[in-house]
Amino acid sequence: MSASDQQFDLIIRNVRVEEGGDFVDIAVRGDRIAAIESRIRCDALSDVDGEGSFAFGGFVDTHIHLDKACILDRCAICQGTLAEAVQQTAKAKAGFEEADVYSRAARVVEKAVSHGTTRMRTFAEIDPRAGFRSFEAIKRVRRDYAFAVDIEICAFAQEGLTNEPQTYDMLDTALSDGADLVGGCSYTDPAPGRHIDMIFALASKHDVPADFHLDFSLDPDRTDLPKVIDATLRHGWQGRVSIGHVTNLSAMPPAQVLAIADNLATAGIAISVLPATDLFLMGRGHDSLVPRGVAPAHLLAGRGVVTSIATNNVLNPFTPYGDASLIRMANLYANVAQLSRDEDLALVFDMVSETAAGQLDGSSRLQAGVEATIVLLDSPGPCAAVREIARVIAGWKKGRKSFDNGRPVLHKAI
Ligand SMILES: [Zn+2]
Repeated sequence: MSASDQQFDLIIRNVRVEEGGDFVDIAVRGDRIAAIESRIRCDALSDVDGEGSFAFGGFVDTHIHLDKACILDRCAICQGTLAEAVQQTAKAKAGFEEADVYSRAARVVEKAVSHGTTRMRTFAEIDPRAGFRSFEAIKRVRRDYAFAVDIEICAFAQEGLTNEPQTYDMLDTALSDGADLVGGCSYTDPAPGRHIDMIFALASKHDVPADFHLDFSLDPDRTDLPKVIDATLRHGWQGRVSIGHVTNLSAMPPAQVLAIADNLATAGIAISVLPATDLFLMGRGHDSLVPRGVAPAHLLAGRGVVTSIATNNVLNPFTPYGDASLIRMANLYANVAQLSRDEDLALVFDMVSETAAGQLDGSSRLQAGVEATIVLLDSPGPCAAVREIARVIAGWKKGRKSFDNGRPVLHKAI
């Protein structure tokens, strides 16, 4: 039976699903895409004209800290260094209350939704300063915004484990109480190797993925990466380990980067590159020719590493900017990495959509039978969208409209 003879709940007409492809209609029944075909003749409860926009499954943020977003009002930034950011945020964190975390996180999630994000992995710091207050708030945010975005929560040790053993037990508790995975940060721990082993012990015990903040410096000789690669292979955790930052890759010659990329690809370790934070915090020792300090995501991807570009922080001492827009982050990365070719820009789009979804063990590709989570961009396709920071028009989550930014209207002089 052709799609033209059927009844649908929603049809979005006149959209592209590939760069420069033919216009098609997307038919939705219930929470699933029923058909993607040209000129579907049917009745639908909701009939939407996509007006030539680009339809895809929405942006995927693989690395964001909702719990410590929007705290510039209670932090001082004097040096703009990583050490200062960690110290200032730790001080603020001791005063976090659940309602406060909830309202700041919800504000960021609402921005992310309106910028077309349909899936994200957020870190929630759990330690003697934060207690479980941030974690409880983020769990409520996850539940209250499930109408628009799938949020997975990483129980995260930002300030060490070997120096603060009670954090280990707190992470263990969180993993039995709603956390989806566990995260470590070896550069703040006095014993980085032991820290990595402890995170893997928790990942193993709870059978969950692990996510590390790693090698956040411009020193190519100071690296914990071999330890994480070794532990990943030892535990058989290929495809379940992610790493954020690895800014020291930006300080290495390309041949060394490519050799490391091959090791990462073999170990099935994914990388989240975080350009807004890395550009702000790295290279503070330079007063001229300041290094960019952003890991070369496109080189890693070219060697088969699962690579995404993500937000990381919004309006705090790690990143005193931000709007949780991933198309803006993709454009920032492309600009910093000096990319110009269409295929490179399409690759960058994948790093905030399909490849990023794969890192979180999902997919955002639109096809018949999959979940009807659809976002429209005011653009002919991914490449143009990255070049122009395409406007996000509207989105549906599981067939239900989740946001609408409206169409801009020019009031021209006659
Ligand atoms: Zn981070």
